[in-house]
Amino acid sequence: MASAERRPLVVGNWKMNGLRKSSSELLKIIQDAVKLPRKVDLVVCPPATLIAHFAGLARGSRVRIGAQDCHPEPSGAYTGDIAAEMLADAGAILVILGHSERRSYHKETDAQLRTKTLAAWRAGLTAVVCVGETRAEREGRQTLDVVARQLNASLPEGARGENLVIAYEPVWAIGTGLTPSAGDVAEVHDLVRGKLVERYRGAGEAMRIVYGGSVKPANAGELLNAENVDGALIGGASLKADEFLAIAEAYK
Ligand code: PEP
Repeated sequence: MASAERRPLVVGNWKMNGLRKSSSELLKIIQDAVKLPRKVDLVVCPPATLIAHFAGLARGSRVRIGAQDCHPEPSGAYTGDIAAEMLADAGAILVILGHSERRSYHKETDAQLRTKTLAAWRAGLTAVVCVGETRAEREGRQTLDVVARQLNASLPEGARGENLVIAYEPVWAIGTGLTPSAGDVAEVHDLVRGKLVERYRGAGEAMRIVYGGSVKPANAGELLNAENVDGALIGGASLKADEFLAIAEAYK
């Protein structure tokens, strides 16, 4: 269970989905979020093209807007890329970094993730750093080693409670409908908490560790109320306002 000081965080990763007409789904989230029984931080991460528009729609509500990636440099000759400063300027408050789809399709490394995390902080964004094992690594009982290695290699010095979130996302659970047991999630989150405290001392206690991978309204209660789970990173289910909010409602 999330500790009293760590407010649960529910982040929706829309991936490469959404046009301006998808605003209706965001507006429903904004409207119905006020009915949530307790304070949960809600962030929707649309494609970059929608950030400024969504940030305008969400202004004054309890829903905040995030991004899905950034370039390490603040500006320059990087055709097609987007700087963290540009995301902040458009109204984003956080950025998802090192998602397994970026690691696999764009060959992103832990070293690049580290520079992107620094870029996010430079722009005043919270970095949501994704870690997680592949199916082969889980079957080889390497999960804890893999996650520890990813954390060591990708996290820079200078993290504070509010500028870093770790998302534990087993690669084999993303978009597959498969999930680890709540006990397995708790075991990995416990390792992550230990590493964060070892590295950042008191600040490491304040950082949120969220779970991602096939979270749905039906399994959210079990997964999100597991020990040391401070929230969720949600892909597919975040595209539907009702499902996104039902997941946020699962916190006890
Ligand atoms: C994700 O893309 O971060 C994710 C968790 O996806 P899904 O919820 O669809 O598994």
